[in-house]
Amino acid sequence: MIFEASRAKALDQLNNFVDNHLAEYSKLRNFDFGPEKRSNISCLSPYITHGVINEKEVIQKALSKFSFSKNEKFIQEVLWRTYWKGWLELRPNVWTDYLVELKQIRNEFKNNQDYLSAIEGKTNIDCFNRWVTELKENNYLHNHTRMWFASIWIFTLELPWQLGAEFFMKHLFDGDAASNTLGWRWVAGIQTQGKHYLASEWNIKKFTNNRFQNIQLNENAPPKVSEKSYQIIKQDFNNSENIKEKNLLIFDNNLSFEVTNFKENNFKKIYLVSNKNEDRSIKLSEKLMKFKSLLIEDQAQRLKNQSIDCQIIDISEVTNIENCCGLYPTIGENLDYLNSNNLKVDFLYRSLDQLAWQYCNKGFFNFKNYIPKIVSTFN
Ligand SMILES: Cc1cc2nc3c(=O)[nH]c(=O)nc-3n(C[C@H](O)[C@H](O)[C@H](O)COP(=O)(O)OP(=O)(O)OC[C@H]3O[C@@H](n4cnc5c(N)ncnc54)[C@H](O)[C@@H]3O)c2cc1C
Repeated sequence: MIFEASRAKALDQLNNFVDNHLAEYSKLRNFDFGPEKRSNISCLSPYITHGVINEKEVIQKALSKFSFSKNEKFIQEVLWRTYWKGWLELRPNVWTDYLVELKQIRNEFKNNQDYLSAIEGKTNIDCFNRWVTELKENNYLHNHTRMWFASIWIFTLELPWQLGAEFFMKHLFDGDAASNTLGWRWVAGIQTQGKHYLASEWNIKKFTNNRFQNIQLNENAPPKVSEKSYQIIKQDFNNSENIKEKNLLIFDNNLSFEVTNFKENNFKKIYLVSNKNEDRSIKLSEKLMKFKSLLIEDQAQRLKNQSIDCQIIDISEVTNIENCCGLYPTIGENLDYLNSNNLKVDFLYRSLDQLAWQYCNKGFFNFKNYIPKIVSTFN
């Protein structure tokens, strides 16, 4: 599996998936046939996470091939991501609390042999060890495998979910504060209180096409319990009106300016902001840092090809940019940096997020009712 770091490659992948494999998506998407056989799913998440291509483009391409009802499952999956994002935006303390807990647990577990064996792929669970290697080598895991992995981590290896979520963020090319943190919380049983996800031998065997045998798991563990509950913090996702002749900051979640809602605006200059490991709470693997920097360079090149003045800067240099606004980086490390350094930026929100996030106050089941309405605005 190779993820080439360019918008051209992302579009190729999207077109190939829609033209040749989308028809079977809802039937086959839960199977993990192995890293060399990934055509049953889109593998677009590393690109969507970085905004190299966006949800609207992906859904529009799918709708150019099949009707809404034939595409329903795929569209729902694409918008899960938007839902998780909005859910976290309305409860930002879930992320800040996660980072506080992680810091403490990381310290407690730094010499813990079970933890060290897990991240080295040296447990006595063969499939788990293989997935550790796959995650480090390919920087991607199938969705079902992420669920099994997280479940084994929490309920069989009995390790804290916070460390597992960190391990994913370090290596996944699509690592995203919302989808990852909430995905782990969901498996643990604290996202939907009392409902956890328990991996089982028969399920792994079936959906890996019998690639793994003799899997000894704890299939009866109770859900984890959290004392904390989070109230919605009402937010205002309005765009600043006066953006003409301003400088624009773009972070690593929005790397396709040419398809944003703001492409017609005349910005003075565009700054593409990168964020190095020393300013992150979770240190990313070298391969992931490289992937991010190549994606930023690819965006810079495309802007230059359109004769748009742009420059790549480090996030520590944002303080020197005057008269600027920024495409909203969403909850995560970039926003944390700006907040902790008291850097005030006028944010611009995507129209998809402005519309969709208001429906993220309850569960995904409720959000699903609004999907036809959300998609109808794409035309
Ligand atoms: C514990 C755990 C951690 C996860 N961490 C991340 C993460 O850090 N970043 C991330 O993008 N996804 C994460 N996911 C969600 C999901 O596993 C990936 O988005 C998916 O595997 C990406 O593969 P794909 O592009 O082939 O997906 P496809 O099945 O082809 O789906 C198309 C797109 O829909 C979105 N999507 C699909 N399923 C989900 C889902 N369950 N949640 C949110 N979005 C979804 C993705 O953007 C994906 O690219 C996590 C899931 C779990 C269970």
